[in-house]
Amino acid sequence: MLVATGIARGFYGVQALTAADLTVERGTVTGLIGPNGAGKTTMFNCLSGVVPPEGGTVTFEGVDVTGWRPEAIAQAGLVRTFQIARGFPSLTVLESLLLHGDRQPGEGLGAALLGRGRARERALVARAEGVAERLNLTPVLHAMSTELSGGQKKLLEIGRALMGRPRLVLLDEPVAGVNPTLAIEIADRIAALRADGLTFLVVEHDMEIVKRLCDPVVVMAGGATLMQGSFADVVSDPRVQAAYLGTRVA
Ligand code: ATP
Repeated sequence: MLVATGIARGFYGVQALTAADLTVERGTVTGLIGPNGAGKTTMFNCLSGVVPPEGGTVTFEGVDVTGWRPEAIAQAGLVRTFQIARGFPSLTVLESLLLHGDRQPGEGLGAALLGRGRARERALVARAEGVAERLNLTPVLHAMSTELSGGQKKLLEIGRALMGRPRLVLLDEPVAGVNPTLAIEIADRIAALRADGLTFLVVEHDMEIVKRLCDPVVVMAGGATLMQGSFADVVSDPRVQAAYLGTRVA
């Protein structure tokens, strides 16, 4: 589904990515792990168009999307979430979802919220309600997004990504900062979305979650890809253990 080869990117003399390769098979939750500074976030940015790569090729569903703007890549079906879940202070959960469901909701949005909008807006609200349902956000649909728990904010971030009707979703640390019970719930929601046909690429430092959720796992170190394999294979590989150097990986 996604093939990235030889991705290179530097910042003011720091070579964040030298020649990173990565593939994502349709229907998987592929993990992307590696020690701090390995280049995972930069790789996400290059794949999703947030930062253009200086070398290499990104091919999504057979189309060369290298250097495309994020909006164009999202339009093609590949979206990403960000590590820090951003709540909009003055918006409810439903409104936050609607904002991401249509680039130009227009004047009909208010009417849609009152249940008497045009068909397009009504369909958009129905879609937002469906996304909320899939992420267990229905009970807080009309709560202000800033009042959500950390875990619910993470789920809302995933929900906003889903409103763009992606086929591949890049998740940046979807359980960072949430308690272990909620982390498992979020992982199970992602697994359920995968079972419904979505594909994910996930950067995550929590190895319990990677083990539970991701197959295969891609390991990066020093701006390049070290290996790609099952969780069991990568954590027992001496190269991976050396890359983490004292960091417990299993
Ligand atoms: P972490 O797990 O800590 O989030 P990471 O694997 O995501 O790390 P990156 O954030 O991609 O790694 O960083 C890779 C390298 O590139 C680091 O040395 C980082 O300091 C550098 N880097 C990334 N973005 C920039 C930037 N905008 N300006 C300068 N240096 C950057």
